[in-house]
Amino acid sequence: MYDFRVRTPNTQLLTPKVTHSLEHLFAVALRDDFEEHHRDLSVIDVSPMGCRTGFYVTVLNSRGTLPLGRIAASMRSMLDIALEIESLPGARRETCGAFEEHDLVGARSEIRRLVGEGIAPLDNPPHLAP
Ligand SMILES: [Zn+2]
Repeated sequence: MYDFRVRTPNTQLLTPKVTHSLEHLFAVALRDDFEEHHRDLSVIDVSPMGCRTGFYVTVLNSRGTLPLGRIAASMRSMLDIALEIESLPGARRETCGAFEEHDLVGARSEIRRLVGEGIAPLDNPPHLAP
């Protein structure tokens, strides 16, 4: 499992609605085009952190077989795929347990920010500020 941190902890958190919409976008991005472009990488889940600063990336690959940069590159690819999704998937009463709690505009803005800033793979991320 890897941490895909998108916000600085204890400073600017994602809103619950943006987090929820990102979860939907990332799930569909992973199910659709992702595997086709990353056959060496078995990402099975990208789930939101409860602190709303990022996502947990769960992979099936053997431990130690993937350089951290490979995971970072795959997340960049997932962002590109997610940004191509224009309407929020699965956000209907029948398919989502909180279908009114979404912010697609905010989620797309967050993805554009991440793409613009880039993803830095950190072997030893800094400790959280006290
Ligand atoms: Zn939902």
